[in-house]
Parts: sequence; C-alpha cells; structure tokens
Amino acid sequence: MSMTHPVPEGRRPEPVTVFGPDFPFAYDDWLAHPAGLGTVPGSAREAPVAVVGAGLAGMVAAYELMELGLRPVVYERSRIGGRLRSHEFAGADGVIAELGGMRFPVSGTSFFHYARRLGLTCVPFPNPLTEAAGSTVVDIGGQTYHGRTLAELPPEFTEVARAWDEALEEIGFAELQNAIRARDVETLKQRWDALVPLWDGRSFYDFVATSQAFSKLPFRHRELFGLVGFGTGGWDSDFPNSMLEILRVVVTNCDTNQQLVVGGAEQLPRRLWTLPVSERSPWPAGTTLASLHGGVPRAGVAAIGRGGDGLLVIRDRWGASGAYGAVLATCHSWLLTTQIECDESLFSQQLWMALDRTRYMQSSKTFVMVDRPFWKDVNPLTGLPVMGMTLTDRLTRGTYLFDNGPGRPAVICLTYSWMSDALKMLPYDIDQRVKLALDALGKIYPGIDIASHIVGDPVTVSWEDDPDFLGAFKGALPGHYRYNHRMYSHFMQAGRPPAERGMFMAGDDISFTPAWAEGAVQTALNAVWGVMTHFGGASHPDNPGPGDLYDKLAPLDLGD
Ligand SMILES: Cc1cc2nc3c(=O)[nH]c(=O)nc-3n(C[C@H](O)[C@H](O)[C@H](O)COP(=O)(O)OP(=O)(O)OC[C@H]3O[C@@H](n4cnc5c(N)ncnc54)[C@H](O)[C@@H]3O)c2cc1C
Repeated sequence: MSMTHPVPEGRRPEPVTVFGPDFPFAYDDWLAHPAGLGTVPGSAREAPVAVVGAGLAGMVAAYELMELGLRPVVYERSRIGGRLRSHEFAGADGVIAELGGMRFPVSGTSFFHYARRLGLTCVPFPNPLTEAAGSTVVDIGGQTYHGRTLAELPPEFTEVARAWDEALEEIGFAELQNAIRARDVETLKQRWDALVPLWDGRSFYDFVATSQAFSKLPFRHRELFGLVGFGTGGWDSDFPNSMLEILRVVVTNCDTNQQLVVGGAEQLPRRLWTLPVSERSPWPAGTTLASLHGGVPRAGVAAIGRGGDGLLVIRDRWGASGAYGAVLATCHSWLLTTQIECDESLFSQQLWMALDRTRYMQSSKTFVMVDRPFWKDVNPLTGLPVMGMTLTDRLTRGTYLFDNGPGRPAVICLTYSWMSDALKMLPYDIDQRVKLALDALGKIYPGIDIASHIVGDPVTVSWEDDPDFLGAFKGALPGHYRYNHRMYSHFMQAGRPPAERGMFMAGDDISFTPAWAEGAVQTALNAVWGVMTHFGGASHPDNPGPGDLYDKLAPLDLGD
C-alpha cells in the first residue's frame, strides 16, 4: 500500500474524540500523564488478580495491573486476541484477514495510545467513497452505480447524505459535537443528558422515519440510507437498535477517518503480552505478562465463586483452582451464565438482569486470498476499475478489497454482514458461503471471473456460532440504557454489599460504545482503577482516575 504512515503522533490526533458522551472522562490524558495511573500499598504488591479473557480489554487491564505491581493471572479459553483476530493465510507471508475488529477511528485515542506505544503502523481503511477504496460500487434494486466520491453518484445519494445531516441537526448535533471537541463537560452533560430520556426508548429507524428531513423525501431515500448509511455503509442492520447507540457513534466520529492496522489488529493484545513494564513499575525491569505466566495464559475458566476466607475462587476447565482478591471478567456477559458457573451472589439481581438482557448482534465474514489486486484493472468501455468496494442489498451486503502492495497476493472480504444477513450464512460451510457470495457478486459484475483469481484456502467466521462469544458485539435495543448504566457503573464498588465486591467487568459490551475497541480499552481502565482502589491503592493526586471524578461525570441515572 502506498499510503503507509505511522500512527499519528501527538496527544489528540483529531479534535473530536471518544470523550463521553455518557461519561466524559479524558482517558487519553490519564494514560499520558507522567505520574502514571496510580499506586498500590506495599502490602498489596504481587497480590494475584485474575483476568478472565485475553482480548484487548483483558490485555490492557492485565498490563496496567502489572505496572501497578499487582500480579495479573490471565485465563483464556482459546487464543490471545479475542475479537481482534487476524487470520494469516497459509503459504503467504503476513497476508491476513481481519475476522473481528478491522477499522479503528482515530477518535479512539486510548486505543491509539497503545497502538503507538507498541509501534504499530496504520493506513486509512478502504471504506466506501474514501480515497483508500479507490472506487465504490453501490448496487441496489438491481441497479449498479459507480463512483469515487459522493458527487460522482446520482444526486439522490447526496440528498440522502444531506437529509442525515439535517436529521441530526434537528436534535442539536453540532452543539453536542462541539462540546466534545472543546471537552466542555458542563455543556456536553447538559445536552447529552437531555437526549438520553428522549431517545432511550426509540429506535434508529424511528429517528430516521420521524425526522423532518427524511419525512420530506420518498421512501426510496430511506432504503438508500439503509444501504449506504454513513461512514462504513450497511446501517439498516442497526435500524432496530437504540438511537442513543447510533448517536454515540456519529457524535464521537467513530464512523469517520478509520485506520487499518498493517499486519493485523491482533498484534495489539499480542504485543501487550510481551511488553516490558516501564521504569515506574515495582516489578523488575524486563518483566512482562508472558514472563509472569511462563509464556502462556491459564486455561479457560469454568467456575467463579467465593471461598470461606472471602477470596474469590476460580476453577479452570481442567479443575485447577486459584484464589484471588479480585477477578476481572472480560468475556461476553452471556458467558457468565452459559459457559462459566458464576456464583449468583457475586452480582445483584438487578445486574444479572442487565448481563442477561444485553443483546449481542450476529455477524459473519468470508474472505478469500487472490493472486493480485485485479480489481484495479481498468474496463476499457467505462474507463473505471473493473471492481470497487461494493455495497449492495444482495446477500453479500459489504465487499471490501485489500491491496497488499506490488508483488503480493491481495485479499477480498467477499461478504461482511450483520443480523439477518449473517444468519442467512450461518448453516453453510465455507465453500458454500464462498459460492453464495460469488453468485451474488456475479450479478453485479457479470464480466468478472473472481473465482479464477482465488488462491489458497478461504476463511469464514460467524461469531454467534462460537461458544466463546455467542455473538459479535453488543447492540443495545430501545429501553436498554438502564442496563448499560448498571454494567458500566459497576466498577464503582464502595457502596456495594461485601458479597458483590472484588468482581469487576470490562469489555466493549460493558461500555456505552459496543463494537468499538475504544470501549474495551476505556472500560479496562475503569476496572484498573476499581481493582487498584479495591487493594487500598489510589491515583496520583495530580492525575485523578475515572473513579475519582465519577460523581462529577457520572452517566445520567434514569432510576428504575
Ligand atoms: C465482526 C466484528 C467487527 C468489529 N469491528 C470493529 C471495528 O471495525 N472497529 C472497532 O474498533 N472494533 C470492532 N469490533 C469490536 C472489537 O473487536 C472489540 O471491541 C474488541 O476486540 C473487544 O475486546 P474485549 O477484550 O472486550 O473482548 P474479546 O476480544 O471478546 O475478549 C474476551 C476474551 O474472553 C475469552 N473467553 C471467553 N470465555 C472464556 C472463559 N470461560 N475463560 C477464559 N477466557 C474466556 C474469549 O476467548 C476472548 O478472548 C468488531 C468486533 C467484531 C466481532
């Protein structure tokens, strides 16, 4: 790829960041402060803390707990990385398919804090209508349109984009976003907290359909919007979701300026595993998570309970037990009732309700490696590339093209779909999925023989089909704000009964921004603060942590 550049330097690569809106704490500043995240008393040094799951949240938390001088003990059922899963095609050096998270908005400044620290390189993600995609093809209702930019598509598409901007403005979008840009907590809380009760009970589709901007336009514009949406395309799968969730995405710019991690996003959790502690840490220089574990995480967790001495007890799937002052669970919350025998007394019944009612979305992807980026060949009749990043109402929904540079095989994500479109793929094996996708693409590109370019073995995933996940990511439904609130605020444990203390949670499903790795990092940092204070530690007075400022910044409590 010709546009390679290092992860942006500097504290805030872009003025709009994932700063709230529910809990506007500056995680990037907390991380960047020379005083570090805090300290634990000498008596707590090397105290073991169990971390369930070696995904991004688990690795960030484990690394920072080690920095504090605690001894994280990471349990993982399958592989380090979790939903940052970069599949390397056999026989091709470093040619990968991102089966989980693949595009990371630069507004996720805590995510990029670690990406930078770990020396990762990023390039713009080939999203629809971006320069990185080269050309975009929209195929809807049997008609196919080509364009490099929005302006090159028929005027209807510009009308749709304008209607979306106007619809957002009907609820004061610019002021809200400006408050985020300025990190003006007072204005942000005032504006956001007013929207929460208004929109918690209403869906994304409700928002679109009842907006003045879309009401003026024919139904077709709504269909086009569902297909092309904003930023990444394909948003009609989210139409039933809570509008608050969609608003968070757009107001924090999670949908724009997204980067792809060269060599795979899985490198983030993997490199954290081998990153030595800083000079600040009480651990000897050179200590890493890998060295504390003898090179490999513990086996998957089968049970979590509490022993007679008050310590939390973990039993792994092979029967080995360990006792811990604190446990941090980062697996999907449904696994606490399906896969892990979790003592019911560890959470309140209200929280169990939230953990179980949380809704996970389905998602499926199928990738092939191809001999070369043949899609760049120019069609002499049209003067356009023969194929482009493709959005369609057909089975494939989103097709993404990855050029790995000259002389290297390229990769096509034949289909990336969510919800009912993902369920259509669920029963089929990989060859059948490839065939279904090629058949659909054949209708859009009748003259192109994609199959003739395929090399190596294809790869596919259905996250809902994996007992270690049961879904791709949370997608909150209308009325779920209170569940989000209960889960998110759980790291504040001072007022909880003793039976519910010491058990922490993190992950993008615990955050208000599910499906974004930034939410996994931010909630991991909340949990680090929670564990640190649970062991009698504290943040540095010059660098207060999320819990220190909680009362001032707390997400709106709607009451039950
Ligand atoms: C299809 C898809 C697309 C995505 N796209 C994007 C994107 O474009 N941009 C973005 O920012 N984010 C994206 N995400 C979200 C991103 O991948 C996640 O936010 C991030 O990887 C979550 O990390 P986590 O640590 O919270 O959870 P996970 O990565 O799920 O980690 C949890 C870990 O717990 C382990 N586990 C489960 N059960 C047990 C057990 N019993 N014992 C021990 N361990 C257990 C699991 O194996 C897993 O490794 C996407 C996710 C998916 C699935």
